[in-house]
Amino acid sequence: MPEGDTVWQTARRLHDALAGKVLTRSDLRVPKYATADLTGRTVLDVTPRGKHLLTRIEGGLTLHSHLRMDGSWKVYANGRRWTGGPSHQIRVILGNADSTAVGYRLPVLDLLRTADEQRAVGHLGPDLLGPDWDPEQALANLLADPARPLGEAVLDQRNLAGIGNVYKSELCFLLGATPWLPIGALPADRAAKLPSLAKKLLEANRDRPVRTTTGRRGQDLFVYGRAPRPCLRCHTSVRVADQGDGSRERPTYWCPNCQAGPAPSPTRPRTTPRRTTN
Ligand SMILES: [Zn+2]
Repeated sequence: MPEGDTVWQTARRLHDALAGKVLTRSDLRVPKYATADLTGRTVLDVTPRGKHLLTRIEGGLTLHSHLRMDGSWKVYANGRRWTGGPSHQIRVILGNADSTAVGYRLPVLDLLRTADEQRAVGHLGPDLLGPDWDPEQALANLLADPARPLGEAVLDQRNLAGIGNVYKSELCFLLGATPWLPIGALPADRAAKLPSLAKKLLEANRDRPVRTTTGRRGQDLFVYGRAPRPCLRCHTSVRVADQGDGSRERPTYWCPNCQAGPAPSPTRPRTTPRRTTN
């Protein structure tokens, strides 16, 4: 799932390819916008906002997109083969004299007035990679519901924008608390560090091709995706269980030794099926 750093990289690629250039091709394959034609307009900029992308276009228009679970934007030099997926998965094409940006499987694609952008992203909390970053506000948002499990609170984009499922698990590990610990029960000194720690993780990764929270090559993450392998710090077997409200359950990883707090019984780690010989 794309996190704030992935969206940031996508925005930069799109900005580099499109900003300051006149659109010579525009194809929005969403019924609502089937007749919209953006050709002849200059793209002004492409900006990430949390996990949302805002492509601002001359004439006061913004193309708002969100990658959700498996959407992506690819940029191709004109004449190159498109490799992002089958053509029926293409939701939008924006091209200029040099390159073409293609949006695949985008679950959210809206053309709105730039003046109305707040309608699309106004619910977001302070953006970890944005110019509006405000750690005190982010912390206040997080602590406003002290009973909420830590993992759910940091994933809620209304509290702070940019954290996805990978950073959720890693952040809880670095805070020494299970994702099920009520956020109000986090010791005050650690809670105070949470916003800056989250920002550090995203910032450190926004220019890296491979996401890492450990700084160790080949062992990029402390717990995410590691069950039932040993914790990098203490060698206890890492556990995995779902966390969520039922509608959006996400695999959540933790070390039962390094992280204090409540936890459900782990989902049985997937093991390689044993080969039977008769
Ligand atoms: Zn551990």
